Amino acid sequence: MNTHQTVAAVSVDENRLDRLAELAVRVGLNLQPGQDLLLTAPLEAAPLVRRIAIHAYQAGAGLVTPLFADPEVTLARFRHGADDAFDRAPGWLYDAMGKAFDANTARLAVVGDDPMLLAGEDPEKVGRANKANSIAYTPARERITRFDINWNLVAWPGSAWAGRMFPKLPHAEAVARLADAIFAASRVDGDDPVGAWKAHNAALRARSDWMNAKSFHSLHFRGPGTDLMVGLADGHEWMGGASVARNGITCNPNIPSEEVFTTPHAARTEGVVAATKPLSHMGSLIDGIRVRFESGRIVEAHASRGEEVLRKLIDTDEGAARLGEVALVPNGSPIAQSGLLFYNTLFDENAACHIALGQCYSKCFRDGARLDAGEIAARGGNTSAIHVDWMIGSADIDVDGVHADGSRLPVFRKGEWAPDAR
Ligand code: ZN
Ligand code: ZN
Repeated sequence: MNTHQTVAAVSVDENRLDRLAELAVRVGLNLQPGQDLLLTAPLEAAPLVRRIAIHAYQAGAGLVTPLFADPEVTLARFRHGADDAFDRAPGWLYDAMGKAFDANTARLAVVGDDPMLLAGEDPEKVGRANKANSIAYTPARERITRFDINWNLVAWPGSAWAGRMFPKLPHAEAVARLADAIFAASRVDGDDPVGAWKAHNAALRARSDWMNAKSFHSLHFRGPGTDLMVGLADGHEWMGGASVARNGITCNPNIPSEEVFTTPHAARTEGVVAATKPLSHMGSLIDGIRVRFESGRIVEAHASRGEEVLRKLIDTDEGAARLGEVALVPNGSPIAQSGLLFYNTLFDENAACHIALGQCYSKCFRDGARLDAGEIAARGGNTSAIHVDWMIGSADIDVDGVHADGSRLPVFRKGEWAPDAR
């Protein structure tokens, strides 16, 4: 018996679960009549997936196709798989996903896995398996980062995940606490989640409009262990909350979401940065990250835990050592204020300013939908088989917007939006 064994089902509040499913379909995806839906989820999340399917068909969905993953099967691979099998990945499946997205299928991913599922496995094999998977996933990832179709991530209170977050609580209580945290962060606590998201989207829009009006050349982050100048891509555009996919559908890709974000210039980040939260990456925990950038590239990387997985990650390809996203999140965000560490990027990245290594979002350019890969690269957009966010914000972080002539404006002070930044 280990902590990952499936445990007796714990009931999750049906009402709020149903609101979350409805929110994912109506606001997250804004699924259109006749549109197909591809759903990925952990096995345990079936109760949420079933409700999503009901709301999707009620919204007029064409075909809803769920794909479930089982942590026990993942562990079986690491414990019993042949060594040379760790460089393999189901490329055929990701090719098919690419085809589905080309046919205007929407994508919904339910997260809820054990963030430390692979913590006890051989880091060399974990690194190889992650690399093979990231590369094979390219056909699907490309279409998501290009924002071809409406997509959404939403969370299920997985039992192993809850156990990691609340190790001292009895199991049912831990799941209930995580469920409460997910429902609160996803804004499905009130009577009108759809209305709450409308107001929230307007607030995020105001922030990104301000950043776009300023059109900074770089952002300067300063805090404990951090003195980092992040160059912004030429013609970058800040986004946040609801946005329009290339298929014309306005969706909210992440539930929850508290960030405004854009594309850094792949060759113009300089200095040192220390992570402010641990990063859970594909079942491994990487903690105490400290890196140094020169001309946009990581030239030194350390971690107090998981350094080998971090090195393998940066090593995935040329673009994996460069930035593909920079995002601003105030310390007053509800997720930060909950004081919880989720060990899950969907939540933790919405509690703190963050940067992402790897692939950029080509939508984060003015007229991004019309640019081809060459034009995006010429403007400084990065390309990679990975996109991994990690947190660099806290109540101690200051951010200045820096114009090309060197003049500066305060953007964040002590982890909050500066008074003029609105
Ligand atoms: Zn982000
Ligand atoms: Zn990201």
